[in-house]
Amino acid sequence: MTRHNVFYNSEFVSSDFAFDTTRKSGALAAALGDDSSATVVDPGHFTERTSEIIDRLHGPEYVLAVRTGTPSALAESQGFEWDPKLPTMATAHSTGLVAAVSEVLTSTSRVAGSLSSGLHHARRDRGAGYCTFNGLAVAATDALDRGAERILVLDFDAHCGGGTRSMTSSNEVVQIDVSTVKFDSWEPSAAQDSLTYSGPGSYIDDIATALQHAGRAGTFDLVLYNAGMDPANSGVSKADLNVREQMVAEWAAERGQRVVYALAGGYTGGGITMEDLVALHHLTIDAFCDETER
Ligand SMILES: [Zn+2]
Repeated sequence: MTRHNVFYNSEFVSSDFAFDTTRKSGALAAALGDDSSATVVDPGHFTERTSEIIDRLHGPEYVLAVRTGTPSALAESQGFEWDPKLPTMATAHSTGLVAAVSEVLTSTSRVAGSLSSGLHHARRDRGAGYCTFNGLAVAATDALDRGAERILVLDFDAHCGGGTRSMTSSNEVVQIDVSTVKFDSWEPSAAQDSLTYSGPGSYIDDIATALQHAGRAGTFDLVLYNAGMDPANSGVSKADLNVREQMVAEWAAERGQRVVYALAGGYTGGGITMEDLVALHHLTIDAFCDETER
């Protein structure tokens, strides 16, 4: 088993508003402290760089609202109650991804993760679906700034990544999405893009087809993998989610593909405890630990 770095600091869980998106990364980081699968690294020194990219990508009125809490309808458009630490929390989830992009594009590490969620539904001028700033679009922009020319967003969160597609250019960013819920759906406009609706009965077949499609789309300077575990909330089994993570990690390893992954969705309730949720997200980390040595 080969270790890789996963980025996280206490700012990820700093908002007063307690919800899986603003708390689960802390529980997972604590669990990682006890084993040897990954090293938790503080991305804090990328905060300023990240804030600058957020200022470029998101509308000024929206960014100001998130930072000040006013107007509240805009500041709380992601569905959270605003408090002064909410902008810190939201920025941190993008900062972890920027740190991970820096790591895989400027070092010998092929894989890095960030314990980030609440990303892919955010639009330029508003939040949506628990997503405040679009950290995937932020990470893609940072990669382009660093000289990447072609990026794949692989979005296997249960929900569609329409926010990310709306904030990135099809000329530079290919998006391949397998979803079990139609929220935030988007219309593929480029031949290489795809959006597949799946469910427990066909999930692994649909993931395999999506990865074949990604393989035919050529090579990428970076893959941003939105590794949501919320298909579990749609009835996809933990065993199938484990197979999915092994498939993605193997697909990337076979191609020597640089990967940055984010936790993305995954929720307690309906019989899923925080301990269960941590175990689900751990599948992603373990799969990439197994594959980084290839
Ligand atoms: Zn989701």
